[in-house]
Amino acid sequence: MSKPRTALITGAASGIGAEIAQALFHEGCHVVIADRNEPGYLVDLLAEHQRTQFIPTDLSQQAACQSLVEQTLSEFGSIDILVNNAGFQHVAPLEEFPESTWENMLQVMLTAPFLLTRYVFPGMKQQGWGRIINMGSIHSQVASLNKAGYIAAKHGLVGLTKSTALEGGPFQITANVICPAYVRTPLVEQQIAAQARTLGISTEEVESQVFLKASATGKMIEPAEVAAMVLYLCSDQAKSITGACWTIDGGWTAQ
Ligand code: NAD
Repeated sequence: MSKPRTALITGAASGIGAEIAQALFHEGCHVVIADRNEPGYLVDLLAEHQRTQFIPTDLSQQAACQSLVEQTLSEFGSIDILVNNAGFQHVAPLEEFPESTWENMLQVMLTAPFLLTRYVFPGMKQQGWGRIINMGSIHSQVASLNKAGYIAAKHGLVGLTKSTALEGGPFQITANVICPAYVRTPLVEQQIAAQARTLGISTEEVESQVFLKASATGKMIEPAEVAAMVLYLCSDQAKSITGACWTIDGGWTAQ
């Protein structure tokens, strides 16, 4: 990157978001971490007060999304990179899927990305440069059983990304969606442990027999692989890449 940029990353207290925050920080960016939880293991990064900030945010609230953008702009003057990464999973059959969970999933994983995009757009347009990266999933492209809320939100994110790409294009704002299969993070570790209890098998067996069953490479994806994709999409070499889905899935959706 030629000059320091400011990156706002949601859900960056943990997992993929934390890895993205660290990668962008090491590229020289100012980094704002937005999460409802404290970013416990990013203390070294947050000690760099001039370049990093944690803004506690509940992304299910419109006012919190607006305030997050306002606080970031007042602290760093611009938002050049927006990574809409926060998310969570809920597993239940359709007829048992709690209506309140459905609403919360759409708020955090689809409405918040829309609102944040809406709020950062004027500044990005004015400066004639922007990168918006939405964290989708293979569940932006295909479905699995009992994940209706997650799959609906992640499919919706593809539509939002394409719309953003068309409207942002003339202003050199790109928008892309990254679609990973299972990445080794707390979100997935919890699901593996839960399945092991339900199925009465070891966590290693759940990993290989359930989670990686459809993976050609047979390996869990590491958060650093996703962060590397974010760095590429933020680079000037990727200025013509927009409106696209970037699948990192070990061949899952090739079959
Ligand atoms: P994670 O649980 O480690 O991190 C998610 C973060 O989002 C957490 O820090 C959590 O506090 C935050 N968050 C959730 N709801 C929030 C809210 N209302 N307000 C503010 N913050 C909130 O999970 P992860 O695996 O790192 O997932 C990150 C993203 O990647 C998610 O969008 C997820 O759907 C996506 N993804 C993950 C995988 C995977 O296998 N881990 C695969 C594909 C896509």
